[in-house]
Amino acid sequence: MAKARHAEIVGGGLAGLAMATALGQRGWTVRVHERASELRMFGAGIWIWENGLKSLGVLGVADQAMARAKSISAFDIRDQDGQAMMERPFADGDRMLLPPRADLYDALIAGATKYGAEIVTDSPVRSATPDGEVILEDGTTLRADLVVAADGAYSKLRESLFLTKKVDYLWEGYIRLLIPRLPDYSDSVISEYWNGSRRLLYCPCTDDFNYICLACSVDDVRARRVPVDKATWLESFPEHEAIIERFPEEGRWDRAVNVTCRRWSSGRAVVIGDAAHGQPPNLGQAANMTFTNVVSLAAAVDSAQDIPGALRSWEAVERPLTDHVQRWSQLYGKIVGHWPENLSPQRTRFLQFATALPWVQNQFNRAARHTPYGA
Ligand SMILES: Cc1cc2nc3c(=O)[nH]c(=O)nc-3n(C[C@H](O)[C@H](O)[C@H](O)COP(=O)(O)OP(=O)(O)OC[C@H]3O[C@@H](n4cnc5c(N)ncnc54)[C@H](O)[C@@H]3O)c2cc1C
Repeated sequence: MAKARHAEIVGGGLAGLAMATALGQRGWTVRVHERASELRMFGAGIWIWENGLKSLGVLGVADQAMARAKSISAFDIRDQDGQAMMERPFADGDRMLLPPRADLYDALIAGATKYGAEIVTDSPVRSATPDGEVILEDGTTLRADLVVAADGAYSKLRESLFLTKKVDYLWEGYIRLLIPRLPDYSDSVISEYWNGSRRLLYCPCTDDFNYICLACSVDDVRARRVPVDKATWLESFPEHEAIIERFPEEGRWDRAVNVTCRRWSSGRAVVIGDAAHGQPPNLGQAANMTFTNVVSLAAAVDSAQDIPGALRSWEAVERPLTDHVQRWSQLYGKIVGHWPENLSPQRTRFLQFATALPWVQNQFNRAARHTPYGA
């Protein structure tokens, strides 16, 4: 019997664990290196669209990940005057579920473990080589048929392989939190409230919790504070006191970044997830694209004699859609966020017009409606 192929994966986030599951399913031996001392996910929800759901289905983890998730059927996006600001309709067959991140993460840990992945915590990695070597911080060198850099947007591994083209630090950032569920609010509608460059996003999540994402400029010092400065958010959204008064002490702030790579692979080493295509979260597609790309990546390398060649062919197939999502996510942020505050009513009129165009809606939904490999 042929010896199983082996992968060393760097990063125990959503991308690394999805990759471990996908390769494990195909009989590879897999080791995941996570620099943190435990695998832990912070409190927030995550939008999982049809493409992500199908990919998680191929990985065999969708049922566990989505067990408590609310199913979303509509968006309600309003400006400072309570006017509907834009259209994001769901067509027949568009599905979006909203699980807690921790449920998704636990399902991927279970998936990776089921297929025999070895997950090593307290294992920071220094660099990788195109020959399939991983060099740990303590100097140990490990060899593999495939090295996967899944170490996030600020990836050290990507740069050790000279794959970075650009990391843009964007003007906006986000605080994410979970609040006790409000029975008076819809269980299936995502509501987004705008006031100037501040946004309050309210997402149904489980029977017990709702997911809140607060977006603001990085220069908006009071708004980006954690624990959240409730008074300043109340000034912007007084009508949503019922939501704001439930904000807990814990929350997580992240600045938006956009990552572009020269290539996604070098020899036997490949970058995935935010390390390859970190982006502002405006379309809620980054992790969905990761799952889609991971499923096809596992298939591409599994059947290949020439792994570097297979990685290049895989990128040629998968990258255009991922680039499209990144472009539209950035464009959305630029148009909506950089609009002068004194011209907010014009912003509403422009967005109402633009987002009613079927062409624009198709650009937003292209990734969600894409059928992933193997689904
Ligand atoms: C506000 C916000 C909302 C979002 N909402 C959505 C959404 O609704 N839907 C969606 O699809 N996506 C969403 N995303 C994007 C999604 O969260 C990310 O794409 C995803 O979490 C990235 O996973 P990752 O595993 O690639 O990276 P990370 O989560 O950054 O994981 C990288 C892991 O690698 C480890 N690591 C780093 N360096 C090393 C090293 N040298 N050695 C060993 N380990 C290392 C880290 O500790 C970490 O565990 C959102 C992002 C933001 C900021």
